[in-house]
Amino acid sequence: MRFILCFFVAACLFAQPEYDLLLKGGHVIDGKNRISARRDVAMKGGRIAAVAANIPASAALKTVDVSGLYVTPGLIDIHTHVYAGTGERNSYAGDNSVYPDGFTLRVGVTTVVDVGGAGWRNFEDFKDRVIDRSRTRVLAMINIVGNGMRGGKWEQDLSDMEVKPTADMALKYKGLIVGVKSAHYAGPEWAPFERGEEAARTAGIPFMVDFGAVHPGRQIYDLLNKVYRPGDIYTHMYSGLRGEQDAETKGPSKAMLDGRKRGVIFDVGHGGGSFTWRVAVPMMKAGFVPDSISTDLHISSMNAGMKDMLNVMGKFLAMGMSLEDVILLSTWNPAREIQHEELGHLSPGAVADVAVLRLEKGDFGFVDMHSARLKGTRRLLCELTLKDGRVVYDLNGITREDWDKLPAGYTRQGDPRWDGFSFGPRRGPWRQKK
Ligand SMILES: [Zn+2]
Repeated sequence: MRFILCFFVAACLFAQPEYDLLLKGGHVIDGKNRISARRDVAMKGGRIAAVAANIPASAALKTVDVSGLYVTPGLIDIHTHVYAGTGERNSYAGDNSVYPDGFTLRVGVTTVVDVGGAGWRNFEDFKDRVIDRSRTRVLAMINIVGNGMRGGKWEQDLSDMEVKPTADMALKYKGLIVGVKSAHYAGPEWAPFERGEEAARTAGIPFMVDFGAVHPGRQIYDLLNKVYRPGDIYTHMYSGLRGEQDAETKGPSKAMLDGRKRGVIFDVGHGGGSFTWRVAVPMMKAGFVPDSISTDLHISSMNAGMKDMLNVMGKFLAMGMSLEDVILLSTWNPAREIQHEELGHLSPGAVADVAVLRLEKGDFGFVDMHSARLKGTRRLLCELTLKDGRVVYDLNGITREDWDKLPAGYTRQGDPRWDGFSFGPRRGPWRQKK
């Protein structure tokens, strides 16, 4: 009897809870699984373990009440510039870029794609400098220019646009390099686009184009309908600078309509100079909605009309898109576009990247590239972000205990099974003292 009792006590002491972390009472929006309903979400070992109407708190090591909030897959921003830290001025492989972690986790973004900062010559420097050191999941589209997006001198150099080394680097880092990019090309030649397409095709990944300056002999119609393959991505879709909008109807141009019929993907890529209300509103009214929402985060967009991913998503709410569609365009759709189908949804077994969002109602304003405003009544705020099943951002401390309910002299709280903040790879400076 004593033995049995000892065994029972030991079993209780060492029992592993079924789940590490449980988000209870939230409204789940998961576009892949067509869920928009009140659901509990449980995680274990960095993966989604269960999504159900009622999962008991007793089954989890840690339960967080998220009632009144929306629980979505971690947001995926497929157009950013995060190749910072080289010290190069006026360069997207330098000072024009930002380190990702300060702009992502606090707005529910868990995955970003740097588009074209690095080419094959400097991709491994970018990987060492940023990708391997960030808490955000950083992926890349490699520039067809070997030197990447370092400025005009490099970006206009046709001799540095080589298919083979670009495709070789993309294949060497398959999964990390998720596309090929061409940007800012101003010459009349089609060579940058044809070579980018060939490199992308060789590596089995999509081609994304910022179409640069348009020439009479180099029109958007041919890019989208002759050079592009289905699955290639046209970013800056609402810039209105390169023939996206029909001059008469103000809806999408024939180039865009025919491109969509062929399976071309259309991405927002807001940026500092690529989103205009007088383009976006009539194109949206005509039914030409994006396939994916992205920011084009860089130093000139971060504090202007763009601001951050949730602000750009708020613009689509303000134009009348449903919250479910706005989430779909910021999670599952971009995950598919970059061939990372383990991300962007909350199926059991999926990577447990999760955003917990508050939908605020009130009088808000959203500003475009020309500093024109559109008023809106809904805005998203990030309360909590989980990456690989661990808390990496918690605005109001909803995962925490009140200090005066803890034992006197309390020390570090949390548990490494769910807490990526107190127990993450980067602890406070007090931990680094020798
Ligand atoms: Zn960009």
